[in-house]
Amino acid sequence: MISVNEILDKEDIVRLLSITDQGEQDDLIRKAYSIKELTIGTNVYLRGLIEFSNRCQKNCFYCGIRSENHKVTRYSLTDEEIIQVVELAKMNQLTGIVLQSGEKQNPDFTNRIANLIFKIKKATSAEFRITLSLGEQSLETYQDWFNAGAQRYLLRIETSNEELYKKIHPDNELHNYNTRLHCLETIQKVGYQTGTGVMIGLPFQTIEDLANDLLLIRQMNIDMVGMGPYLSL
Ligand code: SF4
Repeated sequence: MISVNEILDKEDIVRLLSITDQGEQDDLIRKAYSIKELTIGTNVYLRGLIEFSNRCQKNCFYCGIRSENHKVTRYSLTDEEIIQVVELAKMNQLTGIVLQSGEKQNPDFTNRIANLIFKIKKATSAEFRITLSLGEQSLETYQDWFNAGAQRYLLRIETSNEELYKKIHPDNELHNYNTRLHCLETIQKVGYQTGTGVMIGLPFQTIEDLANDLLLIRQMNIDMVGMGPYLSL
């Protein structure tokens, strides 16, 4: 039986992430499940993810829709199409939607999103939650979208290791680790329920990196965590 301290330090986390014994892994999963039951219960809340555009100004090396991937067919949904999907989500008793797209930073885009949030609020009940996953923006933009009625924001940092971040992104002002971290802090300050996460299995990533990722997520008191595997194409 593995023993787990209530508050894990880096050494504990590295040890747990390094477990290869099947019995110990099963113990760890059981322990994690019991903590989940105690803290957030066992209800599952379904949200509809609306990936309304795959156009992005960025070029993250690991991403299939990065701007320099000319093989991908680009698309964007209209507001009317998005509202139709929202209606479908409502009809199927989903409790909210996530608006996600590639990153754009321009007034047309930010105004469009604010208007879209108003339209979604009008088409749904007060309990219906709107989550945004629209990348790095200015404080003013985050605030405008929050004021319009969005309650949650997802911005994955992908790694807490700045050197690793540099290896998986182009070296220019659009891809800056400190800017990303600053955006995450800004999102929290504005008042969103905030989500972040990292990729698991990145080239050059170590168990220590993953432990540091978890420590950063705890230190920042992040509300929602989304982890994803790195898939090489
Ligand atoms: S910002 Fe997001 S969508 Fe755009 S290239 Fe990077 S990972 Fe892909």
